[in-house]
Amino acid sequence: MTNRIAVVTGATGGLGTSMCQALVDQGRTVIGTHLPNEQATAQAQDWQQTMKSQGYAVELYPLDVADYEGCQAFVQQVEADHGPIDILVNNAGITSDAPLKRMEAGQWNRVIEVNLNSMFNMSRQVFEGMCERGFGRIVNISSLNGEKGQFGQCNYAATKAGIYGFTKSIALEGARKGVTVNAVSPGYIDTKMVRQVPEKVLDSIVAGIPVGRLGQPEEIARAVTFLTADEAGFVTGTNLSVNGGQYMD
Ligand code: NDP
Repeated sequence: MTNRIAVVTGATGGLGTSMCQALVDQGRTVIGTHLPNEQATAQAQDWQQTMKSQGYAVELYPLDVADYEGCQAFVQQVEADHGPIDILVNNAGITSDAPLKRMEAGQWNRVIEVNLNSMFNMSRQVFEGMCERGFGRIVNISSLNGEKGQFGQCNYAATKAGIYGFTKSIALEGARKGVTVNAVSPGYIDTKMVRQVPEKVLDSIVAGIPVGRLGQPEEIARAVTFLTADEAGFVTGTNLSVNGGQYMD
């Protein structure tokens, strides 16, 4: 199998960790990113050690995906260190919730910068090279709440819905060049963030999931490895909802 270089942004998070593991299991050379601040860097070092002890070698680079020049420099550095990037998983994302009547402009803008501008900031750096080489896989992580909307999340839902338009458009641009671009929309997944929801609220969330349970991070990672497989060249411009049947388009 061809050795492919895969980049996962927000690698050290709940879903990113599983994605990195699954991509390593798939035989990819995996590069992750963590936020450039001191706390995130220290946590990233621990994460890397733990992953290594489990047999997962993942090199980490500091990166703020909201910073266009930073993304440019990051991609140049990775390509100088490892070679061209074949697979990009735009996974990093944040929430900053409030109902519209209380949402601050700063909250709105930051979520747009991190969740949506990042799609452009990262894809712009790798897309041309992928097209020239005749192979590329881009997976953009959206959300159930981008499909159906969510009270108190107009900023987050707008970014996650925006990802679909971006995905379909660049899928068209890459279609004849061997470059596929798809979205994955997780539902409620059993991550630290979701476990922090009060028990009663969580119970009512689970009651609304036809499958009757939260998803597991590995189930999102499986969607990512399906879409990034060399054999997945005929799947492009689509959205794969992984939500236990909670929302059916
Ligand atoms: P986490 O918060 O666990 O992970 C997000 C990662 O993104 C973290 O590593 C975080 O770093 C990183 N990150 C945040 N801001 C930036 C930035 N500006 N630049 C670079 N990296 C950044 O979230 P999840 O793993 O749960 O979510 C991953 C993706 O899946 C997100 O896009 C999210 O919206 C989406 N999603 C998740 C669902 C779930 O149930 N968990 C449901 C639907 C969608 P740090 O930890 O240092 O802040």
